[in-house]
Amino acid sequence: AQERQKYIKGRKLGSGQYADVYSAHLVSDPTQLVAIKKIKVGAEAKEFGISYDSLREIKFLQELDHPNIIKLYAVFSTKSQNLNLVLEQLPQGDLLKLIQDTSNITYTPADIKSWMLMLMRATHFCHANYVLHRDIKPNNLLIASDGSIKLADFGLARSFADPFQKMTYNTVTIWYRPPELFFQAQYYGGKVDVWSCGCVFAELVARDVMFRAWPENEINMVKMICDKIGTPTEDNWPGVSKMKGYVTPTEVVPLRPKEHWMAQFRAVGETGVDLLMKMLLLDPRKRLSAEEVLKHPFWTAEPRPSRLEDLPRKG
Ligand code: ADP
Repeated sequence: AQERQKYIKGRKLGSGQYADVYSAHLVSDPTQLVAIKKIKVGAEAKEFGISYDSLREIKFLQELDHPNIIKLYAVFSTKSQNLNLVLEQLPQGDLLKLIQDTSNITYTPADIKSWMLMLMRATHFCHANYVLHRDIKPNNLLIASDGSIKLADFGLARSFADPFQKMTYNTVTIWYRPPELFFQAQYYGGKVDVWSCGCVFAELVARDVMFRAWPENEINMVKMICDKIGTPTEDNWPGVSKMKGYVTPTEVVPLRPKEHWMAQFRAVGETGVDLLMKMLLLDPRKRLSAEEVLKHPFWTAEPRPSRLEDLPRKG
C-alpha cells in the first residue's frame, strides 16, 4: 500500500529551517503517534530529483536501531518531489531548552553524566555502523517521555533543502565544528562527532556555548579555539601547517594546562575534566574515538549517572 496513506496528519509540532513537522497517527492504530517531517525540497532537488546518495543515507538510517537514536520508521514522497520522513514523536523538547532555562531548571553532575553517556552510546553506535552524524549539538538531542535523550537530525534535511534559502536567518551553526574542518581536511571521520560531543559536554557544565564565535564565522571560530585550547602547531598536531585551510598564526597560545580547564569545569571532577580535554584535543588522531570515550574511567567514577526517571524535565 501507499506509505502516505498509512498516516493521519494532525497539528503542526514545529517548523525549522528546512522542514515543517506534524503530529500524525497510524490509521490502523490511533494510539501510535509519529512525527512527520515534511522537507521543503529545494529547486535543485525538484529539478533533478533527490540524489541517490541522500536516499542511500536514508536507507541506512532506517536500519539504525538504538535506544538513543531517533527512530526513522519510513520515508515517502507526496506531490512531485516532496519528501516526508516518518519519525518517532518526541514532544518533550531538546537539551538546549534545558541548558538555557536557567531560571527553572537545575541539574547535577550526575545528570550530565547520564545525558553524556546516552549521547556517547548513540555516537559510538553510529560510527560502528559507518554513519557520521556531522551536526551534533544540544538542539539535536531530543528528549523522550521516559527522560532519555535521542540523537536526531542526521543532516538529512540539509542535503535536500534549497541552498539559497537556508542562509536567511537561523543559519547552520558552526560552533560545534572541529578544527580539522576549518582547515579543510580531505579525510575526516568519527572524530568530528567526538569534538561536537565534547562541546556539548562543556556546554552542559558551563551552561554556555564553549566556542561561541561572534560574529559567527570561520576566522572567529579558529580564534576562539586557539584562545580556549591553544594554537594548533606542528608540535601538538604534526602536519597541521600543510593543511589547505591552515593560516600561520601571528601569535601562538600555548596549550591550556589542566588547571585552566579545572577552573571552569571542576563540577565534573578531575576525571571529567580529563575526559573533556581528550575529547577536545586539536589533533584528530590524538582525540579519543567514541569507543575510547566509553572506556574512560569517568563513567564508573562517582557519582553514578542519574537514573532516567530522576533526570530533569521541561517545566
Ligand atoms: P530543521 O531540520 O528544518 O531545522 P527541526 O528538526 O529543527 O527542523 O524541526 C523543527 C521543529 O519541529 C523542532 O523545533 C521541534 O519543535 C519539532 N520537531 C522536530 N522533530 C520532532 C519529533 N521527532 N517529535 C516532535 N517534534 C519534533
